[in-house]
Amino acid sequence: MSEPRLSDEFAPVAAAMLERLRAATGILIPTHINVDGDTLASVLALSRALSGLGKAVVPVVSDGKVPHALQFLCAADSPILYTGQALPPFDLIFFADITGPSRLGPLAQALGDRLTPEHLFNVDHHVSNERFAALNLVDVGAAATAEVLYLLLRGWGIPITAELATPLLAGVMTDTLSFQTPSTTARTLHVAADLVAAGAPLEHLADALFRAKPLSTARLFGAVVDSARLDDGLLCAEVTQAMLAETGAQPSETEDVVSYLSGVEEAAVFALFYERADGWRVSLRSSTDAIDVSRLAAEFGGGGHARAAGLTLVGGRALRTRFVQRAKTVIAAARETVAAGA
Ligand code: AMP
Ligand code: MN
Ligand code: MN
Repeated sequence: MSEPRLSDEFAPVAAAMLERLRAATGILIPTHINVDGDTLASVLALSRALSGLGKAVVPVVSDGKVPHALQFLCAADSPILYTGQALPPFDLIFFADITGPSRLGPLAQALGDRLTPEHLFNVDHHVSNERFAALNLVDVGAAATAEVLYLLLRGWGIPITAELATPLLAGVMTDTLSFQTPSTTARTLHVAADLVAAGAPLEHLADALFRAKPLSTARLFGAVVDSARLDDGLLCAEVTQAMLAETGAQPSETEDVVSYLSGVEEAAVFALFYERADGWRVSLRSSTDAIDVSRLAAEFGGGGHARAAGLTLVGGRALRTRFVQRAKTVIAAARETVAAGA
């Protein structure tokens, strides 16, 4: 098989980014809020690669929280855990795995008018990306932003060392649930093979990202699965503050539950509601190409991918009921379309 590469349509933007990078001195590299493996991997790989080019890099965790399960990845880097402190100087902001500035949460407010398109790079793979930068490289055919970054960095002539390959493989593995999602392509697997050849420790990453967990996570998993209710093709489950208190788990310990529940055969759409003081954060999954949950999420201010998306509901029970009704309507409409076409 030939070398994995970015599609030709991205060659001009990749070249323009490299040109603009030469002039940059300080580069802010933020994660999105609710850190996942792909956003953290992207920030770490970019920070390491760009500091290798002599740039002053400022990696920032935009909501200050790295989930316990991902802390091993950044032990050597100490990104800034943002809680409102002053930031070192920068003249470029490199967005990776971020659909739009609002996904920086509190950091977006602090950056204010520094978020002008000329100062932004945007590398992503979400269909709902807002293309908010002067230079946007959004490859919706990629399974992870880490997959895009591997191809971009290599295309820029940057040697892929084990220090770059390790977070990049972690990003690909987390977004594909270890190469299981429908977004996984031959190119994804080829990139992963290159990363393993470059020194990324596949066995260690598989264990740390998918098996190792504190007992509190296993207990919380049980409580969340127990809360699942199926109604008209929609499976809803909860992560309540009471569950966290009872199990001693942190909110970030729940991220795998939605993947587990999304295998329930009787459901078409899965919604996991994380209780917050002002409402709920909602993780959405679809088990069929006939239902694009990023569109459902977008109706409520969220976004993501066709088969995995998220949103936040700020409000009370009535808003949540409206969301649930809308989800059921979307499922019913998809079933009608499928039936009509059959
Ligand atoms: P999650 O359910 O949090 O794992 O998110 C699933 C996918 O949707 C990930 O790719 C997220 O980056 C994306 N996502 C989650 N919430 C939002 C949001 N509010 N806006 C845009 N994308 C989101
Ligand atoms: Mn992400
Ligand atoms: Mn991603």
